[in-house]
Amino acid sequence: MIVKVKADIKQIFKLGKKYKWQKPAKCHHCKEPTLWGHGFVLSFFDGFDQGLYLKRYRCPYCHTVFKLKPFGYFKRFQASVKLIFSSILNRVYKGRYLPGLSWSRQHFWFTALKRNIAAYLSNKWSKGVIAGFIELVRMGKIPVTRSI
Ligand SMILES: [Zn+2]
Repeated sequence: MIVKVKADIKQIFKLGKKYKWQKPAKCHHCKEPTLWGHGFVLSFFDGFDQGLYLKRYRCPYCHTVFKLKPFGYFKRFQASVKLIFSSILNRVYKGRYLPGLSWSRQHFWFTALKRNIAAYLSNKWSKGVIAGFIELVRMGKIPVTRSI
């Protein structure tokens, strides 16, 4: 059973298995309140060649296994948030876009992100585009859209 949870993509990307997942409060099947850790599953996402470790929990009573998955996609965007975010990370930290994915598509995301940061967070925003991306998501905005 997949449970979608709020999770910090940047941190999962960075910390891997050390990321602190939000443990479900109870078993969704039998309501047992104590779930046990049940390892990780390396999962791959749309066009993203590096897997992310997703945490699993198991109910000791009914044995249902729960795989946690971060909330995923922006409205009207085919690429997952993770893929878009890793493209932005790559552009910022490595100075280039992700290989194997359209340059113009990634450039569209990056320029839209900079424009949205200026529009929503002011052009005095000094924390950089990565923090800007995260902040816009927190505000409920789609950071890479051109339709504002
Ligand atoms: Zn259970």
